[in-house]
Amino acid sequence: MTNKSIIIIGAGLAGLSTGCYSQMNGYQTQIFEHHATPGGVATCWKRKGYTIDGGIHFLMCHRPGQSIYELYRELGTAQSNRFLDMTSYCRFIDEASGRSVQITKDLDLLAKELKAISPADSRIIDDLIAGARAMQGTDRGDMGMSQPQELLGCLEKVKQMWKMRGFFKYFTGRYARSAADYGKAIHDPWLRYIIENMFLPEVPIWFNLMLLGLLADGQLASLEGGSLNFVLPIEKHYRNLGGQITYGAAVEKILVENDRAVGVRLNDGSEHRADIVVSAADGYSTIYKMLDGRYVDGEIENRYKNWKLTRPLIMISLGVAREFKGEPDMNTIKLEHPFTTGSKDVNGISVRIFNYTDRLAPPGKTVVQVMFETEWDWWNELQKDRPGYEAEKKRGADQVLERLEAHYPGISSQVEMIDVATPCTWWRYTRNFRGAYMGWLMSSEIINAQIKKTLPGLGNFYMAGQWVTSGGGVVSSLYSGRHVVQILCHGEGKEFSAVSHALASG
Ligand SMILES: Cc1cc2nc3c(=O)[nH]c(=O)nc-3n(C[C@H](O)[C@H](O)[C@H](O)COP(=O)(O)OP(=O)(O)OC[C@H]3O[C@@H](n4cnc5c(N)ncnc54)[C@H](O)[C@@H]3O)c2cc1C
Repeated sequence: MTNKSIIIIGAGLAGLSTGCYSQMNGYQTQIFEHHATPGGVATCWKRKGYTIDGGIHFLMCHRPGQSIYELYRELGTAQSNRFLDMTSYCRFIDEASGRSVQITKDLDLLAKELKAISPADSRIIDDLIAGARAMQGTDRGDMGMSQPQELLGCLEKVKQMWKMRGFFKYFTGRYARSAADYGKAIHDPWLRYIIENMFLPEVPIWFNLMLLGLLADGQLASLEGGSLNFVLPIEKHYRNLGGQITYGAAVEKILVENDRAVGVRLNDGSEHRADIVVSAADGYSTIYKMLDGRYVDGEIENRYKNWKLTRPLIMISLGVAREFKGEPDMNTIKLEHPFTTGSKDVNGISVRIFNYTDRLAPPGKTVVQVMFETEWDWWNELQKDRPGYEAEKKRGADQVLERLEAHYPGISSQVEMIDVATPCTWWRYTRNFRGAYMGWLMSSEIINAQIKKTLPGLGNFYMAGQWVTSGGGVVSSLYSGRHVVQILCHGEGKEFSAVSHALASG
């Protein structure tokens, strides 16, 4: 068994996953995390007796029998969590027309309701529903995620494609077009809005079909107790496996000797050495700050110059002294009267109602969370003027409350807690480039891109996490850590293990 040491930068999902699998394979690891808690963007925080869930909206494949479930189990989080089956994905509300539709797991009902909105679009609705059905029953882990692409030979790739033969057509041709592009063929503007905004307008339409297929299969879940409940068992698992973790420790530089990573220097000036360094932190900071941009090629430069980032968010969480029984957990409201924050018009808001868990709010009370997209530059500039920044946060919350009043009369007077997170908040706590909380924008152009987990010319160094995946997400971030360790083991000619020996024997 090897005794090689690894320093991991970042205790987000990817850093913790890298840590767990490294420990399972005999490496000795030390994680340095900039923030005071694990989880990165998958986190919760407390305000005035309420717990705000600032991360994960839904998990996929939480039921046994799927490779992704095994991933959760290997990391010790499947056993410790209660995943709450989602029967509805989202309710869409159009303020102007008063119409609403709920995306439920019953695909027949969904087809009927969508056709009621627009009979003229029946053909395209049938097409969508047929696609969602085709996506049902698939093991997403075997769709190329459970093995790193770097280690797949031609035969394995052919085998993978064979497994996907039933729905392969949905990854190509018109289903590979973005939801916005696909939506152009839809006559009814409201139906078009729903299809475009099921996730992001830029994702390939097959991604929406996959979400509908997962929902219909009962393979989408929310997390009882919030995102941190998903993370903490992984952190505990890592420690039980013998891993070390230091919080409040920001890495400033990756130490390099003879083009090999040999350790890190922290913000307190201390230096720490290891045989291998893995950065599971923000990609831009890693490549251009911690390594001073010395290990890049045209591909990397092009990516950081031209690829689009996830648009940053404003998240307004309200602690409300009231229950919202019967209200769907997730709502998208198309506003009749847009408002402005920064220099951007807000035409629609997501409203998350945390009905499903009483652990986030005191009895009889609820956290209502509103999110909408915003811009980095404007907030980043404004934060230099602290009173102006705080005033704009308040103005955002006031405008949102005014809009919510129309849907939940009386809510303004029942609000006990207001918490506003801006793109700068994400930067401050997680260091994600320009507040891009999910890394690269998951668009049809890049979703199949393979991003290398190494840098040209730099030995003993790897990257994990959402900046080396094409669009972020829980599953791909967790897998990226596993992949790094699979690659490491392969490089050393030893078999990769996903068994927790220390725990099994202990
Ligand atoms: C509101 C929201 C909703 C989401 N919903 C979903 C969802 O429904 N489904 C889904 O699959 N995904 C969702 N995601 C995305 C998913 O949570 C992320 O893609 C994933 O958690 C990213 O993990 P990561 O470890 O790659 O990155 P991060 O979480 O960014 O972790 C990086 C870590 O590195 C640390 N770090 C950075 N710089 C340094 C440094 N210099 N030194 C030391 N440490 C450093 C950071 O503090 C952080 O802890 C959501 C995210 C958000 C914010």
